[in-house]
Amino acid sequence: MTIWGLLRNLIPFVLPYKWLIIVTVALTFVGSLMAQVNAVVLDRTVDAINALIQAPSFTWAQATRILTVVSIILLGKEVVAAVITFFQRYYGEKMRILVSRDLSVQVVERILSFRMAFFNTGDNETGKLQSRIDRGVMSLSNTVNNFFIEILPLFTSAVLALGLMFMANFYVGLVALCIVPIYFYVTNLQAKRMKGGRRHIFENHQRVSQGILNIIESITVIKSFNREDIEARRQEQVQQDMTDQQMATRRQSYLFNGLKTFLEQIGTVLIIILTAYLVLIDYPGMTIGKIMYHVMLFSNVSAPIRQLHRIYDDMNDALIYAEGFFGILHADHEVEATGQFRPAEVKGCFEMQDVDFTYPNGTKALHSVSMRIEPGKITALVGLSGAGKSTIVNLLDKFYHPQSGSIRLDGMELHEWDTQWLRENIGLVLQKNHIFSGSIEENIRYGNPQATHEDVVRAARQAYIYDQIVALPKGFDSQALELSGGQQQRIAIARMFIKNPPIIFLDEPTASLDAIATEQIKNSIDAIKQGRTVIIISHNIGQIIDADQIYVLERGRVVQSGTPTEVYHQGGLYKEIFDASARSMNADKIAETLQG
Ligand code: ADP
Repeated sequence: MTIWGLLRNLIPFVLPYKWLIIVTVALTFVGSLMAQVNAVVLDRTVDAINALIQAPSFTWAQATRILTVVSIILLGKEVVAAVITFFQRYYGEKMRILVSRDLSVQVVERILSFRMAFFNTGDNETGKLQSRIDRGVMSLSNTVNNFFIEILPLFTSAVLALGLMFMANFYVGLVALCIVPIYFYVTNLQAKRMKGGRRHIFENHQRVSQGILNIIESITVIKSFNREDIEARRQEQVQQDMTDQQMATRRQSYLFNGLKTFLEQIGTVLIIILTAYLVLIDYPGMTIGKIMYHVMLFSNVSAPIRQLHRIYDDMNDALIYAEGFFGILHADHEVEATGQFRPAEVKGCFEMQDVDFTYPNGTKALHSVSMRIEPGKITALVGLSGAGKSTIVNLLDKFYHPQSGSIRLDGMELHEWDTQWLRENIGLVLQKNHIFSGSIEENIRYGNPQATHEDVVRAARQAYIYDQIVALPKGFDSQALELSGGQQQRIAIARMFIKNPPIIFLDEPTASLDAIATEQIKNSIDAIKQGRTVIIISHNIGQIIDADQIYVLERGRVVQSGTPTEVYHQGGLYKEIFDASARSMNADKIAETLQG
């Protein structure tokens, strides 16, 4: 991204705070005037004192008067400058905080509107996306802050100082002006040299945060395999790369800074020699005071240039981070597509015809899948792990779009459906990851934010979880994340009751739960199934044989379909799964035990 690109993107976030900008700019202007006062006072003082000591009528009273006036002016100027600096920094910071808030709010709203595929592509994995956003917001809001409390004051002061130098003596002004482009050239060279390194550091930062996140997520596995050492070494390597990169960048930076300080000193020396020479040849208007005057003004001219590399660094960071950040804000193609179709009543008759689907990473998950999900009936999707069952649910919920083939709901192509309305009418119960940090009541109400407490209680009763909730010390106000897996699952089912959708997708709702919890959930599910279109994915034969219709999937293809009994008698994969499941449950012994 170029500086203009950055400004074009950032300005809309700053413009709403017009008044803050106007006040800050006005303060900046007054502050810059104040910055020149020292030079003017020194010029006058030196000349006045010089004249005084050379005059035959020298008196201490005159000297005291000069010193008193000088002290009052300088101290007064400091007080005004301090007040201005305070407000300048305060308003600059205020702007930074407000812009940072606006950027964060917009990016979150934006991300929420993105289609599912966005979150699955390499650059957007949780850690990377988070670091792109965090660093983007921080660096962009710092840019705004820097502009108002550093760049603008420094450059205004430099331009004013240069103007004063020209007004006092054209040649001295010209020398000062000629030195400026050399500084810019060197700084620009520095920035170019260091750009690659900084980009590298940025990428390494992403790798570090991703690595730490992975460690936290897999800590149990790491510990159980005693692989702490390997993980530590792996992180150490990333850190080492980053350290090397940082050191190389710093080395270059110090080298260039040294060069710039040297150039600045050359500038000062040139100004001293030139002004001294002009005084010696008695050039009109040139006095000893003017030597001081020009040296001090030149230090104001070169002040922003001294800071320029830092400003450049910050700007470069901002350019790198802005690319990632605004990339998110402007990813219009990532926004979830929606149609207009919003029928008053949704029956839940899905028809898939020759659907092919490949995930963004290239995994082909479905091959020419055709199936019909009858409204008001229970359809089970059966198959081994990775067969494509969850993918079908992902497509029916419009999280992803098929590459070819058609999916219809109640006779209308799914892409014609209003996405929000579609999801309003679908309830999704997943295996895990569906309970938020918050109270039980909040978690159930998530299904319908308008629901009353009575509705929440009713839903909890329907999901067979009410008694257990009220037995908790804080009842419905207890933390939902503190509940057991089975209880959380029933909270999710209660949420479905409160949402009351005509279509329900249950994706392995009882996986990894104990037998008692599974039975309780089966009761809850049996209750919620009534009069709805249900698709259930389960490895639990007990739940599958309750279905009206079964589709058996194998490696992304439908290989069998029919009622559970029909499909069983066809033989094939379903029979294999069924028999293996019965054997693994030791069904014969169970039957014997029950009879005995
Ligand atoms: P099932 O639900 O039957 O266990 P899935 O539908 O989850 O199977 O997966 C089908 C195939 O798609 C698998 O090969 C799986 O690795 C792949 N897959 C699932 N989700 C994703 C994803 N988000 N990105 C890429 N590939 C995926």
